[in-house]
Amino acid sequence: MATIIDGKAFSANLRSDIARKVDIIKREHSITPGLAVVLVGEDPASQVYVRSKGKQTQEAGMNSYEHKLDVNTSQSDLLALIDELNNDPDVHGILVQLPLPGHIDEEAVINSIAVGKDVDGFHLSNVGLLSIGAGGIVPCTPLGSLMMLKDHLGDLSGKKAIIVGRSNIVGKPMAALLLKESCTVTIAHSRTRDLPGECRQADILVAAVGRPEMVKGDWIKPGATVIDVGINRIEKEDGSTKLVGDVEFSTAVEVAGAITPVPGGVGPMTIACLLHNTLQQACRLNDIEVPE
Ligand code: NDP
Repeated sequence: MATIIDGKAFSANLRSDIARKVDIIKREHSITPGLAVVLVGEDPASQVYVRSKGKQTQEAGMNSYEHKLDVNTSQSDLLALIDELNNDPDVHGILVQLPLPGHIDEEAVINSIAVGKDVDGFHLSNVGLLSIGAGGIVPCTPLGSLMMLKDHLGDLSGKKAIIVGRSNIVGKPMAALLLKESCTVTIAHSRTRDLPGECRQADILVAAVGRPEMVKGDWIKPGATVIDVGINRIEKEDGSTKLVGDVEFSTAVEVAGAITPVPGGVGPMTIACLLHNTLQQACRLNDIEVPE
């Protein structure tokens, strides 16, 4: 039976460590990190994320600035707001909640955020830095996944890792991070041949597919560490709904050495890493070290 990697407990520890460091820079440098979150439209899932981000930002002792814009906001008005935030000395991190309405060019918006205030790691400069293995801001979900892997396994060097999914926000940055840790990395996707066979060779399996319970227990190498990034809402027989991952937990838990549950695994780490990135940027912008 696999060890359950408790993302809820891990993220709570990470958030309290961040709060301790925020307290230090407030006292020693009179700097309060500030995170601005911009939401365009009224997508219900995005509203929940934005609320949760604001609450956890404040709990960590940081300032939270929420900008809620009408769904019909023009791209130029959104770019004008970002320009204002880029020039606001109290704002150290800017996050534009995705997805944006169809009439707005997401890439143009993301790349208009000052690199020094990018806390999602989606700005092309940060994407480039990660791809050459240099320091930069790393996307939150892969960063949280890596933190849990290192905490559980220690040195990852030489391990075989497979990432199922090649999106720009999860799969590709996860692959870059594991390569930097000297894993031998396979990136699988919808055209991969014999996906179960590829998965069975891996010591580390990261599932970021967006297909409920696709990865079965018999795809997993006995003893492997499984990180389930997927968040899928499915309907139960009684008509109510529940969240499941991209891994079939009931069969995977019998084979894996360790596994993250859904909910309570990668999910809570994502916002904790957003706070981590905001603290990093606040320190960099003010030219001070992140406290130990
Ligand atoms: P995308 O839809 O952008 O990417 C999905 C990837 O999975 C694609 O590369 C696609 O391949 C691949 N894929 C789809 N079907 C198959 C298949 N049958 N076999 C093999 N590969 C397949 O998803 P995201 O990366 O944005 O998200 C992945 C999951 O992670 C979702 O469940 C999402 O909700 C969750 N998520 C969770 C977060 C968290 O905080 N925990 C944060 C972000 C995402 P191809 O490229 O060939 O089309």
